[in-house]
Amino acid sequence: MTGPAGSNWAEVYDYRAAALERPTSVDEVIRLVERGTPLRALGSRHSFNDLADTTGALVDLAGLPVDLVIDEEARTASFGAGVRYGELAALLEGRGWAIHNMASLPHISVAGAVATATHGSGDRNGNLATAVAGLEFVNGAGRLVRLSRSDADFSGAIVSLGAIGLVTRITLDIEPSFQVRQDLYDELPWDAALEHLDRITSSAYSVSMFTRWVGETIGQVWLKSRMDQPVPPTELFGARPAAREEHMVPEQEPLNTTTQGGVPGAWNDRLPHFKMGFTPSNGTEIQSEFLVPRARAVEALRSLREIADRIEPLLLVTELRTMAADQLWLSGAYGTDALGIHFTWKKLPAEVTALLPEIEARLLPLGARPHWGKVFTAGADRVAPLYPRLRDFAALVARHDPQGLFHNAFLTRTLGI
Ligand SMILES: Cc1cc2nc3c(=O)[nH]c(=O)nc-3n(C[C@H](O)[C@H](O)[C@H](O)COP(=O)(O)OP(=O)(O)OC[C@H]3O[C@@H](n4cnc5c(N)ncnc54)[C@H](O)[C@@H]3O)c2cc1C
Repeated sequence: MTGPAGSNWAEVYDYRAAALERPTSVDEVIRLVERGTPLRALGSRHSFNDLADTTGALVDLAGLPVDLVIDEEARTASFGAGVRYGELAALLEGRGWAIHNMASLPHISVAGAVATATHGSGDRNGNLATAVAGLEFVNGAGRLVRLSRSDADFSGAIVSLGAIGLVTRITLDIEPSFQVRQDLYDELPWDAALEHLDRITSSAYSVSMFTRWVGETIGQVWLKSRMDQPVPPTELFGARPAAREEHMVPEQEPLNTTTQGGVPGAWNDRLPHFKMGFTPSNGTEIQSEFLVPRARAVEALRSLREIADRIEPLLLVTELRTMAADQLWLSGAYGTDALGIHFTWKKLPAEVTALLPEIEARLLPLGARPHWGKVFTAGADRVAPLYPRLRDFAALVARHDPQGLFHNAFLTRTLGI
């Protein structure tokens, strides 16, 4: 039976928390922490595992006022942290501003995305957390803490996994609004992809490749090109321009996908793959993802192709994306440019859990880091060594949460903290 907090978005995880709280002010958030019992922030529930969960109360911060404040000189926007990207993006675009990138879906909360180093794509684009210029959170002592880039703890506090407190307000870097066109190409030969990976992923502002691993071609390549940058190539290493709009999951109609066919549109209508107001992705699914250091990317892809026949029966689609290196301690791209190898699985939890150790055995030795919000099986013995600043993070957590109010089973199992 599901508890008071119900299930995650994909309905593959039932929260075990004893209660669900919905504060509407920072004062209420502080009072919840002052109770001195376990609690954790809950975003828009788009993670696929027990990362958010607690034995105590889950705290949904979507009711905090959005209260958008744009500082045109500093080129930043501050807002209540529970807001979803889609809502924030519409407000920014309405005032002529943009953020540098978006995830595949606009439905996720900004705080939840930032806490897990959620990313879009683009060789030169850092993940979404890299746009954070400031943060306010209520720590385990019930104190409202404000951090900005000049603070020593800043790089540890952004991708926090919810472990240092309840984030109430976020400040993001913004830039003048820009237009983007989205062009699709079909059937990119695998040989060309492996030989020219860098040239393909740098052929537009944001590039995604979708594959089912089997066969000699990668099914689709999506190029998202800024209209203020060079036009997309007419020829893409043997892939042919798509004749019509497409969904990345084979045999699905492109009803929930953002406009393709090279039609220019606002950044927030093209950078996500999926439209707000529709179910993103497939809806019935599990997701896993591994962020592979860029220097090992081709090796990782070759290795997974060897087990394509075991992956394919469980798979809806794999997406390959890139991101720029950053300095956020728990980011998948900490200290290295990275290739994200993502799996949208059919909702077959037992089969997926049985296959993941094989995938992890191939990728983790290459330095690949599992996406925090998706399903993986590796424990702290293999995950913790992937994060050189983990000790510093544990010390940061101990300072802000001395009683362990925000601690949970996920942190012990995957990081040993
Ligand atoms: C259909 C679909 C598509 C996706 N596409 C992408 C993608 O393109 N790229 C990508 O990288 N990931 C993607 N994801 C994964 C998703 O972005 C992450 O799981 C993200 O963390 C979800 O945010 P959320 O608001 O739902 O957070 P939740 O899942 O609710 O929580 C995640 C973590 O954030 C913490 N948290 C949430 N709010 C706060 C707060 N206010 N203060 C402190 N901590 C907080 C929680 O405690 C928890 O630890 C996708 C997921 C789905 C379901």
